[in-house]
Amino acid sequence: MGIIEKMRLDGKKGFVTGAARGIGKCTATAFAEAGADLAIVDLDIAEAEKTAKEIAEATGRKIIAIKCDVTSEADVQAMVDEVVAKLGGLDFCHANAGICINEAADKMTYAQWKKNIDVNLNSVFLTDTIAGKYMLAHGGGSIINTASMSAHIVNVPQPQCAYNASKAGVIQLTKSLAIEWAKKGVRVNSISPGYIGTDLTLSSDFLKPLIAKWNELAPMGRLGKPEELESICVYLAGDTSTFTTGADFILDGAFTCF
Ligand code: NAD
Repeated sequence: MGIIEKMRLDGKKGFVTGAARGIGKCTATAFAEAGADLAIVDLDIAEAEKTAKEIAEATGRKIIAIKCDVTSEADVQAMVDEVVAKLGGLDFCHANAGICINEAADKMTYAQWKKNIDVNLNSVFLTDTIAGKYMLAHGGGSIINTASMSAHIVNVPQPQCAYNASKAGVIQLTKSLAIEWAKKGVRVNSISPGYIGTDLTLSSDFLKPLIAKWNELAPMGRLGKPEELESICVYLAGDTSTFTTGADFILDGAFTCF
């Protein structure tokens, strides 16, 4: 069997959070193209349903949509139970839902701080441990977390201390779980994208005017595209990455190199 065949995800079952749009929609599409059955998990169920239909029609895979607030333990548990019941198991997941609150630290309210940490970091703890418990009891699995280059650098000129701290936390959580589960068949890795053209960046009235500045700072002079993140996620979800755990993959066009 050739390497491309070995990388396929035929017969595997997974879910992606924050998959209604953006990076999650893109990796979900790639997982389905590689042969996996999937749940599109998002707070925005109307858009998640549209995305699930689109991916199912394009790939012929079984794709379901599940409404879930990833900051709610009860929602995440119910979501994982539904994935297992409707897809027949759980082999991999991509904990990807996230938000960015741009506020100066001396103006940021504690409520804003807590919200960003809750959606970006506490949710990853919930998703990874609830999915992980199933995987530990059922022969293993692979977990992918979306961190960010903001875990490695402080972005400028926009202020986003809670976002940066939350993403640094995602990387240390990833490594901690990887160590705890290394001998138990559950692998945990993260991706750290640079600026990517999605709703998060392109639809924010605050961030849109900053894109020219980011492009000036970017060695490649441009934003990344969600499609430029998908092959690493297919690799991490599948069986050619069985020695890869506790790793963070920086996909930023060399933004963090200087
Ligand atoms: P996006 O805003 O386009 O999509 C995020 C999705 O997450 C939305 O569909 C939203 O409904 C969903 N979501 C938000 N809160 C949720 C919750 N509590 N429960 C369930 N779903 C929820 O964003 P994106 O650019 O695709 O970002 C996806 C991930 O990638 C985020 O974790 C983000 O921090 C990270 N990231 C993005 C960039 C970038 O430049 N776009 C760069 C690095 C990392």
